[in-house]
Amino acid sequence: MSSRFQLGPKSQAFADTALDHVWHPCTQMKDHESMPIIPIAKGKGIWLEDFDGKRYIDAVSSWWVNLFGHSNDFINGKIQEQLSNLEHVILAGFTHQPIVDLSKRLVEKAPQGLTRCFYADNGSSAVEVALKMSFHSYRNKGQHKKTRFISISNGYHGETLAALAVSGVALYKEIYGPLLLDPIEVPSPDSYYRPEGVSPAEHAREMFKHMEAALEEHHETVCAVILEPLIQCAGGMRMYDPEYLRLLREACDKYGVHLIADEIAVGFGRTGTFFACEQADITPDFLCLSKGITAGYLPLSVVMTNEKIYQDFYDDYETLKAFLHSHSYTGNPLACAAALATLDLFERDNVIEENKKLAKVMADSTAHLIDHPHVGDVRQTGMVLAVEMVKDKKTKEAYPWQERRGLDVFKYALNHECLLRPLGNVVYMMPPYVIQPEEIQLLAKVMTDGINAVTAK
Ligand code: PMP
Repeated sequence: MSSRFQLGPKSQAFADTALDHVWHPCTQMKDHESMPIIPIAKGKGIWLEDFDGKRYIDAVSSWWVNLFGHSNDFINGKIQEQLSNLEHVILAGFTHQPIVDLSKRLVEKAPQGLTRCFYADNGSSAVEVALKMSFHSYRNKGQHKKTRFISISNGYHGETLAALAVSGVALYKEIYGPLLLDPIEVPSPDSYYRPEGVSPAEHAREMFKHMEAALEEHHETVCAVILEPLIQCAGGMRMYDPEYLRLLREACDKYGVHLIADEIAVGFGRTGTFFACEQADITPDFLCLSKGITAGYLPLSVVMTNEKIYQDFYDDYETLKAFLHSHSYTGNPLACAAALATLDLFERDNVIEENKKLAKVMADSTAHLIDHPHVGDVRQTGMVLAVEMVKDKKTKEAYPWQERRGLDVFKYALNHECLLRPLGNVVYMMPPYVIQPEEIQLLAKVMTDGINAVTAK
């Protein structure tokens, strides 16, 4: 089934010009011979609108960044205020009000003990920072054998080379293999594959045995374990039990290995708590944050770490122990102002509590899908809800990726006012928190109709 999708005349003209010069990310550009690129003229709340007034609900929060809707009046105002004072300044040797305020507030919010904030300007760079900082801190203590990382299969940490190396999604990684670091990869605790009758917590404990074995064998050469707490997002919104994180924290302490929690996608309330690590009551050694940190307004990322690691670098200049990493736009004041406004909104609107009601609407409006003959799983953690389409419900055999059925749901949804960009055979919603219950119900209906249409053939 290939549901035809057509733009109006103004949008089509704009799209044609766009394709003359813009090389789009994560895209086989030839696809756009048969599928238009969609030009967005404006956004308000959860709605995006093209040049002909055609509208779409941004069900994926524009790659998981948007929290409080597009063109949010409160955040707009705070950025404008900052804009009239200071747009940017070098962060080496200089500092500014928004970054000081933001760091203080992040330390208050983060798991206990994360007192130091190192900034970059996108998620992948935050991961690079955490990997380098972990390695370098051991180096500064004379532990030169520690040069490797442990990663989890099907994980995703970005697409710069080191972040890609510790990722496990073949689609993004395989071709660049010859350029990459060589991490030790252990199997994911993904609950999707748990045997029948086994609880997610039991499955996590079982799968942790692989991690324990890897740590036991390699801890002398390993700097850190890196993982996405609770949801492997780019890996298809695969979810696992917090028990795994609890066990991992204990084992990392036992073996003298750092724990890097990549909450770039899951932080800022996505999993139902402000940070996913809260659900396991753990403090990682490094917490990577980006995406929602500015509610989807401006690029910013931060790596939070503890006092001990900070002290591993703190010494006289001549010891050459300083951390060596910088980006031109590090700690941009406008981005920090957006981040401060984001934290204000969480407090002002009691967002974490209010989201529980929305999460319930998400669950209720999609619950019927579990009985669908081509749905293998309907899973949810907080404000992320995913539906996995399968060829065979019993065996969970996947549809061949070449059939691109998820993409067909996407095309169907575009014709019904929804932006439901899939991950392979997984259709999901991860909406901005300003979505209304009836809009969630509309998304669920379009999702259901789309899945019906593309699995009928
Ligand atoms: N880590 C995770 C968990 C992510 O989901 C992403 C982005 N999807 C990244 C890192 C990379 O962030 P960025 O795209 O900003 O480089």
